[in-house]
Amino acid sequence: MKFISLLGATGSIGTQTLDVIRDHPDLFRLVAFSVGKNINLARKIIQEFNPELVSVELKDDYETLKNEFGHSIQFTYGQAGLIDVAVYKKSTLLVNAVLGSVGLLPTLQAIQAEKTVALANKETLVTAGHLVMELAKRYRVDVLPIDSEHSAIFQCLQGEQMSEIKRLIITASGGSFRDLTRDQLQNVTVKDALNHPNWSMGAKITIDSATMMNKGLEVIEAHWLFNLPYEHIDTVLHRESIIHSMVEFQDSSVKAQLGTPDMRIPIQYALCYPNRVALSNTKSLDLTEIGQLHFQKMDQERYVCLKLAYEAGKIGGSMPTVLNAANEAAVAAFLNEKISFLQIDQLIEKALERHNVIKHPDLESIKAIDSETREYVNSLI
Ligand code: NDP
Ligand code: MG
Repeated sequence: MKFISLLGATGSIGTQTLDVIRDHPDLFRLVAFSVGKNINLARKIIQEFNPELVSVELKDDYETLKNEFGHSIQFTYGQAGLIDVAVYKKSTLLVNAVLGSVGLLPTLQAIQAEKTVALANKETLVTAGHLVMELAKRYRVDVLPIDSEHSAIFQCLQGEQMSEIKRLIITASGGSFRDLTRDQLQNVTVKDALNHPNWSMGAKITIDSATMMNKGLEVIEAHWLFNLPYEHIDTVLHRESIIHSMVEFQDSSVKAQLGTPDMRIPIQYALCYPNRVALSNTKSLDLTEIGQLHFQKMDQERYVCLKLAYEAGKIGGSMPTVLNAANEAAVAAFLNEKISFLQIDQLIEKALERHNVIKHPDLESIKAIDSETREYVNSLI
């Protein structure tokens, strides 16, 4: 039995994690979870899963739930609440499915409390991958990927030697605007951008997919998870999202992981690792039904965000922190209809250009750079 803490239970990954837990009451028990503002769904999760600790974002919601549920459950709130959930004494595994760099501190604390970390929250690794991976090594804690591409690579690497990898090939669906030229992106709307062809995900990552920043963040995420230089991490456009990513080895042999686009599969793999179990309502992959798979070179002039992410990753230090914070601020502004789609990469580029990189930023510097960058981007809007 694994005792699970779940951050971001009300989100796209969070609710699919609950599907996996619900499917295996013999393997998993939800002991603690956090939500943001969706306390209606929090109530339903409490009633169904009967956890011991629940965290909400706002103090008012905390008071409300505490009055409703009395002393049978512990409640907590805010940033400290996320940490309480992450380090909850009874939990053995943390699923981090919260959105944005707010997931960093709880991840670091969970590692220090020796919890296995199943990570969907890629912003954590982009913002401070060096701190997370150093700490994980020191405490001998596994950081298991949930992101489908990284799960695919992780699955391909089972039984292999890390020193024998030649390169990683991360696939990208291309997002909602993959068939438009850069000129045609001038007047696209939030509604257009939220219409992803292959995956149903939260709003921020759907926009990141449309700008291709999602792939950029994933390249940085792969750099940290698999400890490889950027020169050995490639991306390819693969519109069907059937091959979730590939690994090429020194002998030029390539391994790929395939499957229907269903996030419950990589979530369950991380939760069950190193075992595999059946999962309800999954569809077997029928390649004859799909017929053809397509692959295209990635055009970094078309996908400026991908280029910016590679550049920031290669410079390293505090540059990826700026990339992530500027992106979070710009995407939030686009979702609130304050800027146009093409202003997203322009704002990120400005933030990167003005930043004086710090080579080995500590946690305090990262927090300061993250908030300064958000303030700067918001001041330009
Ligand atoms: P959603 O927007 O669907 O969910 C985000 C979750 O985080 C919600 O539970 C939300 O709470 C909570 N949350 C947001 N902000 C805060 C905050 N400030 N404090 C506390 N809780 C907060 O996002 P996704 O599930 O799509 O994505 C989550 C993470 O997983 C992201 O890092 C994303 O990049 C990654 N990911 C997602 C994939 C997907 O298929 N969706 C695939 C691969 C990675 P509430 O709604 O209650 O306010
Ligand atoms: Mg992904």
